[in-house]
This record gives sequence, C-alpha cells and structure tokens, in this order.
Amino acid sequence: MLSSEQRSQLISAAFEAREKSYSPYSKFRVGASLLAATGQIIKGQMLRMLAMVGGGTICAERTALVKAVSDGIKDFVALAVITDVNSAVSPCGICRQFIREFCSLKMPVLLVPGDYKEKSPNGPEDGSGKVVEIEFEKLLPLSFGPGDLELPRGPPE
Ligand code: ZN
Repeated sequence: MLSSEQRSQLISAAFEAREKSYSPYSKFRVGASLLAATGQIIKGQMLRMLAMVGGGTICAERTALVKAVSDGIKDFVALAVITDVNSAVSPCGICRQFIREFCSLKMPVLLVPGDYKEKSPNGPEDGSGKVVEIEFEKLLPLSFGPGDLELPRGPPE
C-alpha cells in the first residue's frame, strides 16, 4: 500500500520525467517514475527517434526500468505513467512484458491523466484527481514470466 506521500512523490516525478520526453516528431510526451524498495525514485521518459518503427522508440516505462536495473536496483514498489492525454493511458504491450520481467504482479501502477495538476490544484490529496491505480497483473493477465522457466517439463526428446 502506497502512502499518500509516496504517491505524491511518484506522481510529481512522472510529471518531471514527461518534461524531458524526447518526442519532437510525434509530439506525444510520456513520463514514467518507479519507486524502488530502497525509497529511490527513478524517472524515465519517452525517447522517440526519427525512425519510429522497429527499435526507434524506447518508452518511458522501459527507460526508467533500464536506468534502475543498470544501477543495480531491481526491487520496485510502484510505477506511475503520464502522457499528454487528459485521461489515464496504460503501458504498451512491449512495456507490459518488460515490467513483468522486473516487477511483482501485485505492484500498483498509477496511470496519471495529463491534466491531473489542473484538476487537482491542491495536489494529490485533493480527491486524488482521476488517477487510475491498478494492480500490474490486471494489465497483463495470464502472463509469461521468469518463474515459468522453472515449471516441470516433459522428458527431453
Ligand atoms: Zn511502451
């Protein structure tokens, strides 16, 4: 369970990350923030290159995870994601599988509307705006995860 302070810090960090989004062609900014078990908050932003297809884009969620894991941080408590859209937007399919690799299925994910600050001028305590908080497992049901490699197998052929 996130404290209201953790929630507030995580949402603010997602806003800060969105400011650094590299999306000159799509004009679609995305920011993400991860709360680690250590208490650290790791920010990530969308990096959308001119070649948008193939590997030309790295989403904010994966940027944050790569930054964290690169620094040896592998235990996460919560994730927040914000775009420029005035409603909650959830992570893409690639990111969901990437999150699955490193995060608990029970981890809360905060989907923050782009106009959250305008709708909640007094901060997150002001009725929580319209942030959608969802357990990660609900974004990726029946997922394939690291533990699946440990399941019993038939005899080798
Ligand atoms: Zn993504």
